[in-house]
Amino acid sequence: MAKHLAKTEKKKRPEKPVREIRIPEINLRKRASAPPETERKDPFQSAMLNKTLDRRFTPSDLFLTLLAVILLVAAYFLPTSGPVRLLSFMVPFLLAGWNYLYEAFQEAFMGIVLGRELIVTAAGLMALCAGAWFGAAAIMICLKIADLALSYVESQQNERVSALYALRPEKANLVSGDAVSAVSASGLPVGSEIEVQAGEIVPADGVVLEGTSVLDASALVGESFSFPVAAGSAAVSGCTNINAPLRIRLDKTQSDSVNSKLIRSAENSWMHKSAHERMLQRVLSYLTPALVILAILLAVVPSIATGQWQVYLVRAAILLSVSQMYSVVQSVKLSYDCAAACAAAAGVAVKGHDVLEALSRAETMVFDKTGTITEGEYRIKEVFPRGVTEGQLLFLAGAAELHSRHPIAQAIVAAGGAYASDVKAVDISEIPGRGVSAFIDGRCVYVGNAAMMAEHGIPCEAPSIPGTAIHVAVDSRYLGHIVLEDALRDSAFDVIEELRAEGVGTSVLLSGDVHSAARRIASSLNFDLVKAELTPEEKCSSVEYLMSNRNVNTTLAFVGDGVCDADALRLATVGIALGCFDKPEALEAADAAILNRELRTLPKLYRLSKRSSRAVLEDTVVCGAVKLLVTIFGAAGLCPLSLAVVIQTAAILFEAYNARSLLYSDERRSLFRVKERKI
Ligand code: ADP
Ligand code: MG
Repeated sequence: MAKHLAKTEKKKRPEKPVREIRIPEINLRKRASAPPETERKDPFQSAMLNKTLDRRFTPSDLFLTLLAVILLVAAYFLPTSGPVRLLSFMVPFLLAGWNYLYEAFQEAFMGIVLGRELIVTAAGLMALCAGAWFGAAAIMICLKIADLALSYVESQQNERVSALYALRPEKANLVSGDAVSAVSASGLPVGSEIEVQAGEIVPADGVVLEGTSVLDASALVGESFSFPVAAGSAAVSGCTNINAPLRIRLDKTQSDSVNSKLIRSAENSWMHKSAHERMLQRVLSYLTPALVILAILLAVVPSIATGQWQVYLVRAAILLSVSQMYSVVQSVKLSYDCAAACAAAAGVAVKGHDVLEALSRAETMVFDKTGTITEGEYRIKEVFPRGVTEGQLLFLAGAAELHSRHPIAQAIVAAGGAYASDVKAVDISEIPGRGVSAFIDGRCVYVGNAAMMAEHGIPCEAPSIPGTAIHVAVDSRYLGHIVLEDALRDSAFDVIEELRAEGVGTSVLLSGDVHSAARRIASSLNFDLVKAELTPEEKCSSVEYLMSNRNVNTTLAFVGDGVCDADALRLATVGIALGCFDKPEALEAADAAILNRELRTLPKLYRLSKRSSRAVLEDTVVCGAVKLLVTIFGAAGLCPLSLAVVIQTAAILFEAYNARSLLYSDERRSLFRVKERKI
């Protein structure tokens, strides 16, 4: 087999000739099945809830915090002294910090020495003892403000996802015999028969048994999309039944259905931490105890040496406030959570923080052709029968293809009319990337590409017109070929250009189709590399080759439609499945699943990943710099306690703002675009 990749001339307008390049030894190792690069625990399988901030954002919390701020300012300006002044600072201190004090006692009781509340309370009490009453109250109030800001963003994140909950109805109409009863949808086992009335939402995935209607998937896939269903069609959970009642047999439980998976992608993406988060947690696990020890030393040693224990107690309190890093970790997590929620609201299931991080570094993007770059809806251009009529050729081919889900098969079946006949094909075998063979009336019928014919020693004609030629043979007799064509997606050119503008350095087209068809598309869309006539295994090997040859610190993303490319989706660093709302296997295999069929969602997702990774980096740099400066100046006595805590809180507010902007980044694109480029 010719092992060459063709390089298209980059950044030129369509219809430029493709320049051929030869890659020495592509190492297209055959493999039975492609193991994933790293085993991914499927967050969809977990029923764990997103455990985050303990304190929920409530208006009463906000009111109490505001009151504490006003009382603190009043206490500062009131001309009081002695115990009255202490009391006037104690009120805001306790108002903002009573629950931290309570939790600090609990942590102390349980022996959690480095507990956040214990450290902060210790800092507050040390400041009180040293006479820095204003600073002590400021510690508690600032901590409360930081917590409020983060829990507010978290509540916004939940709100963004909450619309999706409406797609998972609690009740379903269970059919048993002639009776229909309303039961809990979550408890319905596979095989249950349910009825979905017009206007109701399909509670779980299944197959339509009776009825004809239209299902509206707009709320699920994030854009206007509806499709007709009849007996035998797939009924996808989360779709609204528009016209008439449908009787459906469930083939998934509700928690295994598409709607639940989308919701869980937003709720549980945190279970797969990004490398950045893991690194941050590792560093902080050393930094926190180190700063606490430093604070203790600073409180004890110079106090004994100089006798100015009050001065050093305040400086130690500053170090303790710096050592409290919970908010940094929390805000980084929140940024990725917000990005995952934003994606889910647009019908994209992102399975982990690590997926967003890896996608943001994707420099090579590999595309499957049929169904991804093209519409995946073939049209018959011309039929070239040999020794039979056109109708006979289409009928025979259609009878063999009847059960295939390949778009080529669907076009041939529709034209051949075999579905309405009694002729039945048996012993059907579908060879991915080749075609199908089946026995009809005791004779073996082959329907597939030239490679398939060659493998069976059947000589076939070269097609005289451009397109995808599917040859038909019975036993070893050649019966002619059918030439089909598949339309390019309208958005394909813009999408590839947009991705290039956003940072994709190498775009690659992989196809099982013939060289001429693949190269024509690659050339017109300015792909960098193209490889055609690939079996699904060879697609995996090409992905593997490209992965081993990518630049350091960059990743490879594979974008496919889930038909014949599930292994490549698993193998790539980031596998992105397009249009997979009705393809459970693609949803399972992909790291990020775009439920709608709109290719334009891809650059949006890419941009979101870049924005979230940039936000996380900004958070870390800003917080790291603030904490470092406060440590140096605080320990040296050049930064007062209240200023130290206010600066740290400002950094957390910036992080909360950063995370929140991700939540609505799809809607405010023009404001938050990473890079604007006119195409
Ligand atoms: P792509 O990589 O472009 O998405 P596929 O891997 O799905 O394409 O298919 C590659 C080629 O295999 C098709 O162009 C066709 O020649 C052949 N093929 C695959 N499945 C079938 C089928 N069911 N009937 C006929 N030909 C098929
Ligand atoms: Mg395909």
